[in-house]
Amino acid sequence: RASVGPKYLTGLNPEQREAVETLDGPVLVLAGAGTGKTRVLTTRIAHILSQGRARPAEILSVTFTNKAAREMKHRLGQMLGHAVEGMPWLGTFHSIGGRILRFHAELAQLKSNFTVLDVDDQVRLLKQLLQAENIDDKRWPARMLAGLIDGWKNRGLMPSQVPAGEAAVFANGKGGKLYASYQERLKILNAADFGDLLLENIRIFREHPDILRQYQQRFKFILVDEYQDTNVAQYLWLRLLSQAPSPAAAAPGAIDDPSSDAAAAAQALAPAAARPKNICCVGDDDQSIYGWRGAEVDNILRFDHDFPGAKVIRLERNYRSTGHILAAASHLIAHNEGRLGKTLRTEDHDGEKVTVTGSWDSEEEARGIGEEIEQIQRKGEKLNEIAILVRASYQMREFEDRFVTLGLPYRVIGGPRFYERAEIRDALAYLRVINSPADDLAFERIVNVPKRGLGDATVQMLHDHARKRRIPLFEAARAVVETDELKPKARGSLREVVAQFDRWRAQREVTAHTDLAQIVLDESGYTEMWQKDRSADAAGRLENLKELVRSMEEFENLQGFLEHISLVMDRDGGAEDDAVSLMTLHSAKGLEFDNVFLPGWEEGLFPSQRTLDEQGRAGLEEERRLGHVGITRARRRAMIYFATNRRIHGTWSTTIPSRFLDELPAANVEITESKGGSAWGGTGGYGASRFDDMEAFGSSYSTPGWQRAQANRNRGGGRSGGGRSGGFEEEAATFSPSSSDPDFGSF
Ligand code: ATP
Ligand code: MG
Repeated sequence: RASVGPKYLTGLNPEQREAVETLDGPVLVLAGAGTGKTRVLTTRIAHILSQGRARPAEILSVTFTNKAAREMKHRLGQMLGHAVEGMPWLGTFHSIGGRILRFHAELAQLKSNFTVLDVDDQVRLLKQLLQAENIDDKRWPARMLAGLIDGWKNRGLMPSQVPAGEAAVFANGKGGKLYASYQERLKILNAADFGDLLLENIRIFREHPDILRQYQQRFKFILVDEYQDTNVAQYLWLRLLSQAPSPAAAAPGAIDDPSSDAAAAAQALAPAAARPKNICCVGDDDQSIYGWRGAEVDNILRFDHDFPGAKVIRLERNYRSTGHILAAASHLIAHNEGRLGKTLRTEDHDGEKVTVTGSWDSEEEARGIGEEIEQIQRKGEKLNEIAILVRASYQMREFEDRFVTLGLPYRVIGGPRFYERAEIRDALAYLRVINSPADDLAFERIVNVPKRGLGDATVQMLHDHARKRRIPLFEAARAVVETDELKPKARGSLREVVAQFDRWRAQREVTAHTDLAQIVLDESGYTEMWQKDRSADAAGRLENLKELVRSMEEFENLQGFLEHISLVMDRDGGAEDDAVSLMTLHSAKGLEFDNVFLPGWEEGLFPSQRTLDEQGRAGLEEERRLGHVGITRARRRAMIYFATNRRIHGTWSTTIPSRFLDELPAANVEITESKGGSAWGGTGGYGASRFDDMEAFGSSYSTPGWQRAQANRNRGGGRSGGGRSGGFEEEAATFSPSSSDPDFGSF
């Protein structure tokens, strides 16, 4: 075969190839799902490296999840035929921002070993602040404040920049002040939240042009995946970094490794401004699904304005899905008004139609999907090629239960289910205190776990001490045990705790971090606490602790491990090689599987009632894009389900099939029977009757239930009837208020 150029370029279509080979100047690839955008980015990096245009450490490459970053690195190795050493700037916005912040921590009044707070820590801290201010947490919940602060940070707003009107919405105008004291507290605790990782970067870049210039010079190429979901802060950060460095001489001093000093200095001599900035962003406006978290689809629509002279490349061939799947997805998204509109074609065969299956309730749905999966497995297909994509994370439990019963290996993607367990969080708290003695939240969590007779009163006293002297709790403890303020018994235990941590910290220098973790768990009495525990799950907890220590082996040291924990939300299976993937639609972005199950397509759940209530038409369109993302994850089979009854927080409600089902094209969809049992008393003929409104079924059979449901919907002006009320926990609620990346938020 006659192919010009390196091997990794063969097989690309002309537009893809153009996107890869146009290395100079701004490039935007605006194209639909499965057209090879991510592949273009990866190939582009391979091209940059093999052409010698930059070293790995000079490429800034932003992916949406840490998992995607690992995947990209792996692919890169395949393309180049050798593992790529060191791509330190390949990762999510947050991991890269965090890395930069560690280099300049002192400019943010932090130490380089600062802790990254998770959502829980954040809320706990805010609760304390509210208490100190005598603000009623019931009326003004800490979570609400966390959501506000997170929103401000997503928009790049420092406390002083929050518009007065917005600050006023919390606790009669105290919002802005609380934000400011929260930031102060974080500094004292030597901690940052996720929003800070970028916000502090932006501030440092603005206040220290010399530092910004170093990075501008360093990053010869910038690449961004999923650009449609960048928020304002991410956008500002990118804009700052992507400007050609001003011709002023660069400040000496490298950003990370000393070996690059010379290179940076050499760079500084070149007429920098003459060099165009090489930024390549790829995205799809139809896949913008994080609007509720501050993402601005306008960022992508404005690209050629922001980057004059940008080359905009469109890709139209979908390489992922069969004809029916692509047609169904395209037809669904065509119901949105606010979109650019684009052609997508496949040269693949039509394949199987998208199926829609009704079940009696969610349990039957889980049973049906379980059986379907076993059938796929019997055909010899890999479980790795099967995904279940849910709208709300609470939907997962039913599947997890089912899989455990069936003995089907599965993994949850996008949620550190494992790391969120109480025993894991306790263990991590011990490690955090060792790593950063100023980590008060961690210290508070474990100071009396296991029970040491250090109750609330003691902790309160430590707090008073700490606040008065502006020192961490741990140091307050050290000081207090030298006084007689505590009763002898409490003083004894506290002294022991302080001594233990001092000892562990000393041991840290000479002991492998995995061994240290085991020592800490044993010597602290934590392991013993669970060994003595009589409850049913104690054994499982002990196993989890073992697994935690095992999982640390993958990391060089404690700091690296803790960083991973705070940043990584996507659990990548680990133990099981072949497993079904379970995740939310939001976390499925960019991924692909042969078989995709899409359960819970019911009004109120999907589209989510909360989104409709809060965001109206825009919310509905975002939900529809989410449906589009879901269907386009499938290579060979997309299987949609809905249940007629669903239990939300223990209460059963009757549901109505999602309006999105009505929007699927008849020619590409097939109604099937649930394998999990008989939804409708085994009449077998219910199928079509459920969809008298569906385009797929022009005729109008109807069942009383369906009619009633339909009538309800009409009466409700597009809102669901049938007794369904909003307000149950759905995806937006579980991510928000204060997580800001699927990698980091908590479920
Ligand atoms: P999404 O919008 O869902 O993120 P995408 O545009 O990033 O999709 P990719 O994931 O890069 O698309 O590609 C989709 C699939 O098509 C992948 O399996 C990829 O390897 C394959 N693919 C892309 N381009 C080609 C090509 N030129 N030849 C063969 N396969 C291709
Ligand atoms: Mg992609």
